[in-house]
Amino acid sequence: MPQDHAPSPPRGASPATLADPPEAAFDWIDEACAERHRAGLVRTLRPRPADSPLLDLASNDYLGLARHPEVTRGAAEAAHRWGAGATGSRLVTGSTELHARLERELAAFCGFEAALVLSSGYAANLAAVTALTAHGTLVVSDAGNHASLIDGCRLSRARTAVVPHAAPAAVRTALTGHDGRALVVTDAVFSVDGDAAPLPALAEVCRAHGAGLLVDDAHGLGVLGDGGRGALAAAGLAGRGDVVATVTLSKSLGSQGGAVLGPARVIEHLVNTARTFIFDTGLAPAAVGGALAALRLLAREPRRAARAREVGAELHRRLAAAGLAVVRPDAAVVSVRAPSPGQALRWAADCRRAGLAVGCFRPPSVPDGISRLRLTARADLTPAQLDTAVDVIVATAPTP
Ligand code: PMP
Repeated sequence: MPQDHAPSPPRGASPATLADPPEAAFDWIDEACAERHRAGLVRTLRPRPADSPLLDLASNDYLGLARHPEVTRGAAEAAHRWGAGATGSRLVTGSTELHARLERELAAFCGFEAALVLSSGYAANLAAVTALTAHGTLVVSDAGNHASLIDGCRLSRARTAVVPHAAPAAVRTALTGHDGRALVVTDAVFSVDGDAAPLPALAEVCRAHGAGLLVDDAHGLGVLGDGGRGALAAAGLAGRGDVVATVTLSKSLGSQGGAVLGPARVIEHLVNTARTFIFDTGLAPAAVGGALAALRLLAREPRRAARAREVGAELHRRLAAAGLAVVRPDAAVVSVRAPSPGQALRWAADCRRAGLAVGCFRPPSVPDGISRLRLTARADLTPAQLDTAVDVIVATAPTP
């Protein structure tokens, strides 16, 4: 989720002092907690039952593959064959033939020379940003970027220029006059509003300034491009020498984990320098096996990607026709604006009571003060489920 690129200010009360009684070190949390309650911004965990009766428009399971029998079988067989855990970091004992196979097939599917699998999309973004930058590098980062790209910028020793959202002209201005290495980082599909980055224009600016382009395609893989090959393939940028992509295995592929895709020399550089790769235990074999099965299924059934886009367009059309403030989706994330954080919360709760799970985003997860329902346009929704979803969202919408 996007946020300011500056490190978060400390929240809540002053730290413990020597005068405090013993074991008072964390007492400051009570005040921070009370402040969250006062602002109505407390988050709680809600365990999801294995057989939830709710219609799911809240998860990131865009293609409905997380529980597909081929995918769960791929995960189970991998665990039986290779073990429940990877047993070590990738450079020690944590690389199996299955990891190598997934890397080869993922790179080939998306049109890149090579790939490297990490334990999450989050770790992949930290790895890519930190390995591709150094002291003196200029990183130009879209203001709407996902938290993991932002944290990559914070971890790097580079100087970061945060530019207005989806504005290639602002990227050009930031790069102009910079003499040295530069990296432009952007989400391909922004996770809150579901709008796409202007990748061809960004690539052109990068090329003109000799900058690298790093694109987080977490929400594009499996949805955009021919058969779901992703936003870079859709833009004709996959496999270019100055373009690197990151993906997650936890959304369209229904599994867990992340990957960096790019030129072989970039991948080799990451293997040797990226700390979230080197010092992290390798991705569990079950997650690798599940992702590999999902990838093969997607390659065999390319209609799934187009169907997710169609469901997104249909949701947008029908909700907009009902007078709701819905952002036109570029992929399978559909964002509906709510008048206030409180109304967004009540709206999501009303949907839930009516049997529909939707995402609810509000500050501080979204920095612009606009709260939203976030809907997942799942490829496997039936027409009847789509009708139900639209009916419930419209019927429970707050009155302006
Ligand atoms: N990038 C984006 C745009 C995301 O939405 C997410 C997941 N919320 C991630 C990266 C992180 O991926 P993962 O969940 O695999 O760590």
